[in-house]
This record gives sequence, structure tokens and C-alpha cells, in this order.
Amino acid sequence: MYNSSVAGDAANTVSGSRMFIYEVEGLRQNENTDKTNYPIRRSGSVFITVPYSRMNQEMQRITRLGGKIVSIRPLTADNEGNGTTPGTEPQSKHSGEESKPMTQTESVQPVTETKPKAKKAESDVPVNIYRPNSPYIGKCLSNEELVGEGGIGTVRHLIFDISGGDLRYLEGQSIGIIPPGTDKKDKPHKLRLYSIASTRHGDAVDDKTVSLCVRQLEYKHPETGEMVYGVCSTFLCNLKPGDDLKITGPTGKEMLLPEDPNANVIMLATGTGIAPFRAYLWRMFKENERKANPDYQFKGLAWLIFGIPTSPNILYKNELEELQEQYPDNLRLTYAISREQKNPEGGRMYIQDRVAEHADELWKMIQQQNTHTYICGLKGMEGGIDQALTVAAAKDGVTWSEYQRQAKREGRWHVETY
Ligand code: FAD
Repeated sequence: MYNSSVAGDAANTVSGSRMFIYEVEGLRQNENTDKTNYPIRRSGSVFITVPYSRMNQEMQRITRLGGKIVSIRPLTADNEGNGTTPGTEPQSKHSGEESKPMTQTESVQPVTETKPKAKKAESDVPVNIYRPNSPYIGKCLSNEELVGEGGIGTVRHLIFDISGGDLRYLEGQSIGIIPPGTDKKDKPHKLRLYSIASTRHGDAVDDKTVSLCVRQLEYKHPETGEMVYGVCSTFLCNLKPGDDLKITGPTGKEMLLPEDPNANVIMLATGTGIAPFRAYLWRMFKENERKANPDYQFKGLAWLIFGIPTSPNILYKNELEELQEQYPDNLRLTYAISREQKNPEGGRMYIQDRVAEHADELWKMIQQQNTHTYICGLKGMEGGIDQALTVAAAKDGVTWSEYQRQAKREGRWHVETY
């Protein structure tokens, strides 16, 4: 375990409350930062003193202003006299010299005890059974809309028949799809990857299918303003039962579910990032009813934090909520509905705001060696999550980035964003 007593003892300073110093980069001097009285150094860093009770709020405010917290340290008796009051910079010990960026309390180090990796033996993981030059020809069995009325965009749940070949996969892997036709250079289209949304047994638990959760990519062309539709996602979303498609893979070892049924699993998803987590939850809960996995009776805590723009965009809503009702002690479900819910600052509630809200609890969980954290979905969601956990970890005198590195090495921190 981490030793948190250093921060706990030494950080009791100003007005008897624990104070911390944030080193923040990326804030530009402008009306907003002037208003909040953040004097910005020429080096681009700003040091902000924050009382313990306001750490989360201040982090969110900094993020909203475009800043990134690069380090947090407790305000100690050593640096207390350095003029580090809220909104001011610490002064250099030697005049004319830039004060060194502050780093985390060095005496607080992550433990190095190595726990057995919960990763699956590499050799057991099927990969590239089908390659692009000889793909598996699957058949679409069903294609259903997942976005409810009034929701944004099109997301489809697709089930493909793979019973005629040798395609096997595990929860958390992806398959490649090669759309028909040619690209602008008249070359056959390249494959696109999609996270598998079903367990290894498939939705019918008969080992004959694989499922995907696909959002049709659509955007306005930045120059012409015309609506552009993605090649492969449009092909998939328009598939009819009976249509053939070229499948490659499976690929990926980053998002495999730990085999330990007592593991805790934190899942942070945006949009179609739910796909692998649906597979996990089906394996953990739904398939138990069918006795499909006698060696895997999940007993840990699974916590899904799911970011979507509107309620009708809650993909697999009914199934998720049914599971939660059935397994209240083992499954926790938290939504961040950006266009309907507000964060404490009055802005849109994004996944990182929910993570910030629960950061202390998540951090406690993450420190348990049997906890695995998975992030899947939109690129760009990681920054805010890191910020929230940076603050939570700093309260215990721990540098999040170091802890995270170690968790990655231990195979407990998994990210797949696209
Ligand atoms: P393309 O025709 O290839 O168009 C994509 C291109 O459009 C981009 O490269 C970019 O140049 C351009 N573009 C896109 N948005 C904009 C914009 N706003 N403005 C201007 N230009 C833009 N997708 C899912 O739906 N579900 C999944 O489960 C899933 N899992 C994935 C797992 C992994 C590991 C990876 C890497 C990706 C995953 N994806 C998933 C994304 C998927 O692979 C495709 O990238 C996506 O479907 C778009 O492919 P497309 O052929 O429809 O778009």
C-alpha cells in the first residue's frame, strides 16, 4: 500500500486545513483566467494553492479553462512561507531564477510488490485467425437500432453468423470488417476495427455468432458543408439479414477481462465504447443464469460509468438496468448524460465530471490489487479522467501518473479509445 501519512501530517498548514499546490499548464492569460486571479508565469506554469475541501471543484474549474494539472503536492511548512497563497506563485529562493516545477513528495512511493498478473496467458488468446487476404465470410443475422426516439445519430446492434468457420474470440477483443468496394485510389477498402459486443458464446449462447455495436459516422464536411457518411460504418448499419460480409481477426489483448471472478471491474465508456463492457456484463451476470461458464462465477464489484449525450442514447439501456436491478450488490450503473445533466459548475455533465464526482471512491477501489479499470470509447476522454484521479490520489500523497504506470505494468489499467 501507499504510505499516505506524509501528506496527511505535513499538509496541515494554512488555517489548520490541509492545503495543496497545483502546478497547472495550458492556462492562457485571458478574461476568464484574469477573473479567477491565476497569474501565469512566462514558463507557462501557474501554481495554485487549493484547500482540501475544494480540490475537486478547483480541478474541474481548471479543466474548464483549458488547463492541465501536471503535479499536485501538499503545502508543507517548507514551502508555506514562499508566498504560495491562492492565486499567487511561489517565489524563487534565488532572485532571478525560475523556481523549479514542484514535484510530488518523494518519500511517497508506490509499493513494488508484484502480484500475479491477472492477464490471460498470451497463448490462450486467439488472434488473427482470419487475415485480410482470406477473410471469413460471415452472414448478417440481425441489425437493430439502439438509439431511442429523439436521440442523436444511428447506432446499430448487429449479430453475425460465424458458425461455418473457425472464428473464435474472447470478451474485449475486436474484429475487422472489410467494406465492399474501392477507395479514392481505386484500391480495395482497408479493414476497420470494431469492438466485439458479445461474449465468446455469442448472444444466443450457442458459440455461433459475434455481435457489434456500430455508430454510423456522419459529419459535415469542413469545407463544403456537405454531409459525409463513413464508408464501413454505413455499410454495416445498412446490412440486411442474410447479407454477407468480410470479417478478419480477432485482434487485441488490451481489453481482456481478468479471469479472477473476485476481481473488481471499473468500466468507463462513452458511446459505442459500451461494446466490450456489454460483453463483460453478459459474461459476469447474464450467462450465469445459463450456466455457460462453470469456471467463472463473478463475485466482485462491476461499476459502469457511461457517458452519452441524451437519454435515448443510452445504448442497451433496458438490459443494463435489468441487470442492475437483479444484481444490486455486484453491479453499479452511473450515467453521465451530457445534454440533460449538469456538472457542479453548471456545464454539461461529461464522463470526466462523473469520474470527478466519484473520484475519491474510485481511487480507493483502484488501489485494491484486484481492481481492473477499463476505458473505452471516444479519444480524448482520458485527460479528464486522469485529472480527477490526480486530485484524488494527491490527497493521499500519491502521484497518479506514477501509480497509473504501475497499474498498467500490473495489467490493471486498460484503454481502448478511437
Ligand atoms: P471512414 O469512411 O473511414 O471515415 C473516417 C474518416 O472521416 C476519418 O479518418 C476522418 O478523416 C474523417 N472524419 C471523421 N469525423 C470527422 C469530422 N467530424 N470532421 C471531419 N472529418 C471527419 N466504431 C464503432 O462504431 N463501434 C465500435 O465498437 C468500434 N470499435 C473500435 C475499436 C477499435 C480498436 C478501433 C481502433 C476503432 C473502433 N471503432 C468503432 C471505429 C471504427 O473502426 C471506424 O473508425 C468507424 O466506424 C469509422 O469508419 P468508417 O469507415 O465509417 O469511416
